[in-house]
Amino acid sequence: MPQVFTRRHEFLNYIKEQKRNRNSIGFVPTMGALHAGHAQLIKQSTSENNCTVVSIFVNPKQFGPTEDFAKYPRTFQNDVDLIESMGAQAVFSPTVEEMYPPLFATQVSVTGITEVLCGAYRPGHFNGVTTVVMLLMNLAQADKMYLGQKDFQQVQVIKKMVQDLVHSTSIIMVPTIREQDGLALSSRNRYLSEEARQIASAVPKSLAAAAKLFLQGENNIAKLTKASQQELSKFGLEPQYLEFRKVSDLTIKIDTNIQEETVLAIAQFIESNGSKVRLIDNVILDNNSTNKQSLEDLISRAFS
Ligand code: AMP
Repeated sequence: MPQVFTRRHEFLNYIKEQKRNRNSIGFVPTMGALHAGHAQLIKQSTSENNCTVVSIFVNPKQFGPTEDFAKYPRTFQNDVDLIESMGAQAVFSPTVEEMYPPLFATQVSVTGITEVLCGAYRPGHFNGVTTVVMLLMNLAQADKMYLGQKDFQQVQVIKKMVQDLVHSTSIIMVPTIREQDGLALSSRNRYLSEEARQIASAVPKSLAAAAKLFLQGENNIAKLTKASQQELSKFGLEPQYLEFRKVSDLTIKIDTNIQEETVLAIAQFIESNGSKVRLIDNVILDNNSTNKQSLEDLISRAFS
């Protein structure tokens, strides 16, 4: 069984002990409701470190007033079971009061890349993310922190924060784990009704359509956008955003031709049981062999 800590000071004592024993520490921050995507992050961490710590904290600061903080799925015992099965050593699962005591007054804020894509539609979201991640990183004092490509903008924002504030933890990005039909695993998928789940398959199809053309040598953004959008239209969907942006600087929109590593990122609302579920996903359009393989995997899932 992993050791479970709910109090900061107890968790810090545990980390100090790991440091004294010269154990390398891998850290996987999560909001719980764990699935095979999270498991992949934990797996990579346990294979690269002597001690893997997983945090479970549904962070109120990163939810907007109309978003799903209160109803976000909380499945603590299942989470601990999954963490145990992946061989992690410790779980940090604080309460909101433990993380943010009454006089907590600090905010960590990255400018620029937080203002595009999801940042343009979720004001304050990334400030909530960077504030909690910096706090968690300072507690975990990890050698490496593992983040999923599914939240690509989040990875880039955290990388920027770590670089600007010279934090010593290295950031490792882990590829997106997908369902049979290509849908990216997400804790929010459990909000989808059976019918909505079928419609959601348009999102990986839309990414796969652009990826397929790109692998055939098409670099024209208008053509790639059209192919991608068509897959959404078939299901009557209109994305919140569907954008091509420069991987190394997300503030730069690519709108004519792909000449450098580019990410195609999509946010799509899916109606389910009278509410709207917001899904995000992305692909990196680049011809290096590992990336090519993951694009081919997505294409075969989405169009099989
Ligand atoms: P969350 O619990 O949604 O905050 O996610 C915790 C971490 O798991 C983040 O770094 C996510 O990017 C990552 N993650 C979520 N879904 C996936 C997935 N399908 N594949 C890989 N990583 C994921």
